Amino acid sequence: MRKYYTTEGDTTAKKAKNAYPKLALCEKCVGSYVVISEGERTYDECAKCGEDD
Ligand SMILES: [Zn+2]
Repeated sequence: MRKYYTTEGDTTAKKAKNAYPKLALCEKCVGSYVVISEGERTYDECAKCGEDD
């Protein structure tokens, strides 16, 4: 089970979508991102490692 996290991406990007991308991340990978806020749980695969249980 992953969760959606709003993360800090390219803060110089003009589009909020790029500055603060919303990613589905597993518990292992979320530690390597700066998390702005935590969202709902999801069955989507992890955006970083592809974990999909
Ligand atoms: Zn992962």
